Amino acid sequence: MTVHAREVGTELYTCPIYIGTSWTTSRGRTVVLENPASGAATTIIPYCTVEEVEAAIETADRAFASWRDTPVGTRTRVLFCYRKLLEEHLEEMARLVTLENGKTLEDARGSVRRGIEAVEFACGIPSLMKGETLENIAAGIDTCTLRQPLGVCAGIPPFNFPAMVPLWMFPLALACGNTFVLKPSDKVPRTGTRMVELLYEAGLPAGVVTVVHGGKEAVDVLLRDPRVKAVSFVGSSPVAKYVYETASANGKRVQALGGAKNHAVVMPDCDLKATVKALIGAAFGTAGERCLATSVVVAVGEAAEPLVRALREAADQMKVGAGTEKETDMGPVISRAHRERILQYIALGEKEGAQLVRDGRQLKTHDSSTGYYVGPTIFDRVQPAMRIAQEEIFGPVLSIIRADTLAEALGVVNQSAYGNATAVYTRSGATAREFATRVQAGMVGINVGVPAPPAFLPFAGWKGSFYGDLHAHGKDAIRFYTETKVITSRWNP
Ligand code: NAD
Repeated sequence: MTVHAREVGTELYTCPIYIGTSWTTSRGRTVVLENPASGAATTIIPYCTVEEVEAAIETADRAFASWRDTPVGTRTRVLFCYRKLLEEHLEEMARLVTLENGKTLEDARGSVRRGIEAVEFACGIPSLMKGETLENIAAGIDTCTLRQPLGVCAGIPPFNFPAMVPLWMFPLALACGNTFVLKPSDKVPRTGTRMVELLYEAGLPAGVVTVVHGGKEAVDVLLRDPRVKAVSFVGSSPVAKYVYETASANGKRVQALGGAKNHAVVMPDCDLKATVKALIGAAFGTAGERCLATSVVVAVGEAAEPLVRALREAADQMKVGAGTEKETDMGPVISRAHRERILQYIALGEKEGAQLVRDGRQLKTHDSSTGYYVGPTIFDRVQPAMRIAQEEIFGPVLSIIRADTLAEALGVVNQSAYGNATAVYTRSGATAREFATRVQAGMVGINVGVPAPPAFLPFAGWKGSFYGDLHAHGKDAIRFYTETKVITSRWNP
């Protein structure tokens, strides 16, 4: 049976899989997913059987021989065409992202655009994948290096960027000549499925990318099957660590991007208005469900009092509601269970003795009886040792810690188990330089709230935010998806 992956109006939609050379229906058990803005059932996701995941790997493995021999220019032409199709379908993709993830349409559009940037980067592969040559390393002997594809690569993305994160993965892997098995997040499977459908419309030969759905069981097959050579994972830190350890133990290369607890240090000399605007976006944008979200502010010295007041006033102005509505600043969180988890953290913060200056549990919104909303929440006078300061909540909850000096603030940031992103707000170049030099995190913003690197630079998390060596994005990712070969040759005259 052939099933089309296209969005089908408002009726309940069943996600197809691609494990042979066309779309089909899984025989696995199914789960119904809801629109987080309304609680309405929208999607049936199958959890693929082990045999189906193995079939997807087999198909990608078979497709590898001819795809790797496909000239690089031909591979690139498919990607150029894909880029054009994604642009044409940007609004459709953004609406799918909002439907299944809940973020505002504006956010969703931005995230699809960031994903398209990754395709654009992949289109430059003929220049990026070149090796090096050196003649006459000994009498009459020359050397050169080649970058060659690995084989079947697997991608396991998270729920919070249904389009952008998968687009970090498969376009570059394919550009390098690999084939790919994509397992979209089991919380937001439609967007990834649709993106692969567009890829086939762009002219990708059958079987070069396969799609399976599911959770741990499907992932475990990908982590253990010897035909899978590389695993790209993005998700929470405990699962990232598990994926890294299991896949590496099975001889694969792994890039596993994990969770975060991102700190922003606010100095007394900052531009308060601009800082508050940036912090509100960084803390509460996408309902705090970004791996680059600011979840802790360390306010230095006299910065604290005016900052707390201004943050509370700005948070009071935010409109919480369905992401499809124009005036909405912040949509729902992903699910009922996740909302419960966030509410438990708010209760924990009170119990730990932090001062709740804005309580997002008291929320009036048209859909709050069924959608999964939490309002912007702010705790002041948080202590660094409290769990709300240490653990990733992944919701619109901001903790404010007070420090006396930049050195003390840096100490607070650097004791975190995570090291994804951080930011400093100051008018002083010397402070900014000191911060950027000493801080232990991979992505640093200077008066920038969400310091997300573009597709042509690495997405460079540190510590518990990343397991592996070569990051997603940029030249790191090209090295990740290729193996280096050194050829030494002598041609006697
Ligand atoms: P998650 O770890 O629950 O799931 C990620 C992926 O792993 C999904 O595809 C899921 O189906 C699969 N999975 C879930 N449990 C598994 C298990 N036990 N074994 C094997 N696979 C499993 O993450 P999530 O809730 O979807 O995403 C949110 C997390 O992702 C947050 O922690 C966030 O910080 C992180 N994130 C990190 C980055 C980054 O660049 N570092 C980017 C986006 C999101």
